[in-house]
Amino acid sequence: MKVNVAKVRYSEGESILFDLVEEFSSFDLGSEALSFHAPVHVQLQVNKTNRAMLVYGNIQTELEATCGRCLETYVCPLSLSFHDEWVFRAQATEDLLESALLLDKDEVDITERIFEQIVLALPMKFICSAECQGLCSVCGANRNLTSCHCGEDDINPRFAALGQWQSKD
Ligand SMILES: [Zn+2]
Ligand SMILES: [Zn+2]
Repeated sequence: MKVNVAKVRYSEGESILFDLVEEFSSFDLGSEALSFHAPVHVQLQVNKTNRAMLVYGNIQTELEATCGRCLETYVCPLSLSFHDEWVFRAQATEDLLESALLLDKDEVDITERIFEQIVLALPMKFICSAECQGLCSVCGANRNLTSCHCGEDDINPRFAALGQWQSKD
């Protein structure tokens, strides 16, 4: 995923828009493998200021994730905005050297930078829906799909003890 900043590089106050779409490959997140269900759509506005290029970005895509409750695979839409600073290495001040994306030429490969933003925006836990019932802890059935009857036969041990005590009477 590449953009070219030649048009704004020397023109303070100038801005340029980019609209990019690219397929990203799947990746591992800890023990979980995540893949993209849709191409990554990136919109960028790059504004040249006196010190750097200020970038406002928007990323939209869809991931294929596994729900942490019901273990089903589902499509997780992702939409995020971010801002960034890009600067040519030779012009970078000390603070920019640490935080900005350093450019060596007009053509900039932003794939890694975009991927970073996506990873940072991922939820701590993937849940297919707030209403997901998860799996039955007794029979393992997906409670979203079937209503097993495990809960109904459950006997509260206190009632069981009470029942026994009464029967001896
Ligand atoms: Zn679920
Ligand atoms: Zn059950």
